[in-house]
Amino acid sequence: MTISFIDLAAQQARLRQALDRSIARVLDEGQYIMGPQVAEFERQLSAFCGAKHSLSCANGTDALQLALMALGIKAGDAVFVPSFTFAATAEVVPLVNATPVFVDVLPDTFNMDPKSLKRAIVNARERGLRPACVIPVDLFGLPADYDVLIDIARESGMKVIGDSAQGFGGIYKDRTTGSIGDISTTSFFPAKPLGCYGDGGALFTDDDELASLIDSLRVHGKGTHKYRNERVGVNSRLDTLQAAILIEKLSVYPEEIVARQRVAERYSNALGNYFEVPFIPEGLRSIWAQYTLKTKDSTERDALQERAKRAGVPTVVYYPIPLHRQNAYMDFPQDPDGLAVSEDLAGRVISLPMHPYLEADVQDRIIEAVRG
Ligand SMILES: *Cc1c(COP(=O)(O)O)cnc(C)c1O
Repeated sequence: MTISFIDLAAQQARLRQALDRSIARVLDEGQYIMGPQVAEFERQLSAFCGAKHSLSCANGTDALQLALMALGIKAGDAVFVPSFTFAATAEVVPLVNATPVFVDVLPDTFNMDPKSLKRAIVNARERGLRPACVIPVDLFGLPADYDVLIDIARESGMKVIGDSAQGFGGIYKDRTTGSIGDISTTSFFPAKPLGCYGDGGALFTDDDELASLIDSLRVHGKGTHKYRNERVGVNSRLDTLQAAILIEKLSVYPEEIVARQRVAERYSNALGNYFEVPFIPEGLRSIWAQYTLKTKDSTERDALQERAKRAGVPTVVYYPIPLHRQNAYMDFPQDPDGLAVSEDLAGRVISLPMHPYLEADVQDRIIEAVRG
């Protein structure tokens, strides 16, 4: 039997009848763009995370770009992003002509380091940039330390966009991600914890004005009439078909998040004596987009990966090269003290198969292979 890194088929088997009915309804109704399922899904997203406004869009990268556009981020603005993340977090910044400034992460949570952020702000100012926005990432499903990061942002008059592409539904103290920051965003890419069957994304905000701006920007800067253009926007909508699929998936998502805790706990109990296992700070809940171990060094990681592969256990390294070392991003500013933690993690992290339908006996096989 082959082991999947993320088993989308197990979830589909559970939901297949409901999905077939929902998809058939969209085909019967024929409203493929902004059909009634889109508004219904947005309503359910708000009920789930507590944000006043949920606005779906075409993917998680567009969600970040729309957030920057809605906040008026422009040339001369510095946008602070972690280096240890998926490229999309930084990619959207030069797309609105602003400058990404790379910040290091903490060695235990893998999320943005407040001290590094402070140093990067000073450096950005010295370069004549205007500190404008911070984008904390909920890496691997664990919420960033929002209270601390938002305080630092506010001291410099900055906005905060939470990139919750991997962490939507995580708990930060008494709040659910999606409801934190000026705007937060997520992705419904199939392999994300709440994924559709194609591309999809969403933005969340409590601010009425930002919400109506985002609603306009996602449809070519529309005004009150579809053929009145108030501003330059983009075309970024969630397909009605994907919304219909996501309504079914969201209905089991809370249960799946609980199941993910069980899987993660089992890994940590079995592997804690062998490797550094994930650390979850008091009052936070990860949704375990990834279950990521730290090995001693890259030699130990290579050996683990090879051993797992021989046993038919897939593993993935997220992320082997931090963004400030990538050709596309190496010329942008960064924390002047360097990004030692991001570089260290890139050399020794490894993620194990993780999904809510991972059965105990399969997980035991994985654990055995990983331990060696
Ligand atoms: C996946 C991801 C995105 C982008 O989402 P897409 O839907 O693939 O565009 C952005 N940020 C992070 C941290 C991600 O993991």
